[in-house]
Amino acid sequence: MTNGDKMALRSGQLSPDLLIVGGGIMGLWAARFAIEAGLNVVLLDAGRIAGGASGGLLGSLMPYMPDRWCEKKQFQFDALLSLEEEVARLEAETGLDAGYRRSGRLILLPKPHLRTIALRHERDAQTAWQTPERSFAWQVLDQSPFGEAWPDPAFTQGGVVFDTLAARVSPRGLTQALRQLVEASPHCHLREGVSVTSFDLLRKTALLTDGDEIAFDHVMIAAGTGAFPLLEGLMPPLPQPLGMAVKGQAALLQANIEPDLPLLFLDGVYIVPHDGGRVAIGSTSENQFDAPFSTDQQLEDVIEQACALVPALQDAQVLERWAGVRPKAIDRDPMVGPHPAYPFVIALAGGFKISFGLAHRLAQAALAPLLGQHFALPPGFTLGHHLEVASRKK
Ligand SMILES: Cc1cc2nc3c(=O)[nH]c(=O)nc-3n(C[C@H](O)[C@H](O)[C@H](O)COP(=O)(O)OP(=O)(O)OC[C@H]3O[C@@H](n4cnc5c(N)ncnc54)[C@H](O)[C@@H]3O)c2cc1C
Repeated sequence: MTNGDKMALRSGQLSPDLLIVGGGIMGLWAARFAIEAGLNVVLLDAGRIAGGASGGLLGSLMPYMPDRWCEKKQFQFDALLSLEEEVARLEAETGLDAGYRRSGRLILLPKPHLRTIALRHERDAQTAWQTPERSFAWQVLDQSPFGEAWPDPAFTQGGVVFDTLAARVSPRGLTQALRQLVEASPHCHLREGVSVTSFDLLRKTALLTDGDEIAFDHVMIAAGTGAFPLLEGLMPPLPQPLGMAVKGQAALLQANIEPDLPLLFLDGVYIVPHDGGRVAIGSTSENQFDAPFSTDQQLEDVIEQACALVPALQDAQVLERWAGVRPKAIDRDPMVGPHPAYPFVIALAGGFKISFGLAHRLAQAALAPLLGQHFALPPGFTLGHHLEVASRKK
């Protein structure tokens, strides 16, 4: 695509092969792979690219539990492994650092009875978390192998689980690298500050808030919580909404903590060491809220819990407090793939709390039909499945 073509795209005269609505982690990975496959792409965002839920602080990449192994757990396992290579490739191409590290995770066992359950999972991981080349453990230990400060031993009466599969990434580092890559491509045009309000499916056009229209061959709806109303607008009213927004709050501290230390997890509180001695702490989970993007006492409570787990955090400076809304699809799992009635409309949404570990594989699966490829998704991850659930009466 020439610069002239890009100008034409801006005024709606050209139709891209793929219009991607939403430039969060989902839409950015989709743009990356679509460009690589030779498609012409327009990537639109209502606000800033990566200014939604993907612009946060935490970046934990947490595996599903190794028990009751199933297709969706295998999909996520494969995704957590392949992310390593995809991030390395992206960093090599952009020269940017995405802040990725497979640091593992310590799950604290404050009560002895939790150890019995953890030991069962240890055995499960010995079969589930393996590949011919690599082996990951869910190891039950009496105490943290990382010393008395990580975490305070008062919280490990039943021992700890050391999960060697978990990892972390800098949400802003990764999205910035993806943005730089797609923005530099002659095959991609980015537009920020403009929303898609509706689609004309007969003409295959998207109507924008600034009055423009964009015609497309395919459209990918990767609009985070905004994906649910856009998809609902394509069909007769459903008995239940396709998904909802769940608010979360997190904080970033300057704590001079070693960046190699594993993530700590207890009762929904995550402590995630990042590069530069920074530590992210999260998260709240709020189904009802008035102010989606502001923080409040609930975050202060999470910070206090984290400081109890790691007393060294007590003197740390809080660099940032942040809030965002996670896209939770009706059946909780990601909602991906072609619309059953309009195969040129493709969903890529609903990553809820685990998008960063999955988005690259979900994007590849979402693109596969456009590229004449087959990429099997777990049935529960498909748009068709979520539509079926939303069609049931409550
Ligand atoms: C506090 C908190 C902590 C979290 N921690 C983790 C974690 O540790 N690990 C993890 O994997 N996940 C985590 N998540 C979840 C993760 O951030 C989200 O699941 C993920 O960012 C969703 O990505 P997305 O691309 O689907 O949506 P978004 O990042 O929200 O991107 C969607 C984009 O679409 C745009 N948009 C919306 N409607 C329209 C429209 N009509 N037209 C054009 N553009 C539109 C928006 O402006 C937005 O930029 C956390 C979330 C929160 C809130």
